[in-house]
Amino acid sequence: MNFCNQCGAQVDFRVPPGDHLPRYICDSCGTIHYQNPRLIVGCVPDYQGKILLCRRAIEPRRGFWTVPAGFMENGETLQQAAARETYEEALARVEIGSLLTVAHVLHAQQVHVFFRATLQEPEFGAGIESLEAMLVDPKDIPWADIAFPSTDYTLKRYLEDRAAGRENHYFTELDRRLPR
Ligand SMILES: [Zn+2]
Repeated sequence: MNFCNQCGAQVDFRVPPGDHLPRYICDSCGTIHYQNPRLIVGCVPDYQGKILLCRRAIEPRRGFWTVPAGFMENGETLQQAAARETYEEALARVEIGSLLTVAHVLHAQQVHVFFRATLQEPEFGAGIESLEAMLVDPKDIPWADIAFPSTDYTLKRYLEDRAAGRENHYFTELDRRLPR
């Protein structure tokens, strides 16, 4: 951030009085611009044992496979966000189930939250952010072409739990920050 989005003046990056972290501060209008992690929400849609994957049409990781997921919007719940993203990316209507994984993606300043989900009908397609969508048998998942570590982690926990007949939830940390 270089300029204040309230008044347009140049911002400074320093620790405000009483705070413990540096923030972007506008000395012209007094606004402190806090930056906090963003939430990415998605699900693992299951249809009779097969999983719905999308191939990304946008960067980052264009051409790689993922489960439906995206930025949570204001005014919706986690479950609504997961269902909305599934419709936008894979044109599929899902019933959102139990919490599956929470991945703290520290280098991207994001928290990724995934749910289990059920596809009632095998109806899906490529949304505007997808090149294609497919229902895949677990043995045919293109592991080498999965877009993100959080997706890989989520799919593995999902399949382990399903095989064991349980629905646990899991936390992980992904940290590719450069050492200071
Ligand atoms: Zn300002």
